[in-house]
Amino acid sequence: MKFLLLLALFGVLWWMWTKRAASPPSTRREPPTEKMVACAHCGLLMPESDSIADGERHYCSEAHRRAGAA
Ligand SMILES: [Zn+2]
Repeated sequence: MKFLLLLALFGVLWWMWTKRAASPPSTRREPPTEKMVACAHCGLLMPESDSIADGERHYCSEAHRRAGAA
């Protein structure tokens, strides 16, 4: 009887161990985030792909690009 109890205990421990090993690690890596740029006119932060680039500067909209840097 004691042997069966120990076997069950080992079974549970083994099951917990394999379950833990199968699950992804809790400390997941940061996803590759796009570079954020600030509008040269109003300072709004946005992904570089969403911004309107004008040379070295980035703007949130066409209107701000025309308005220029603050
Ligand atoms: Zn802006």
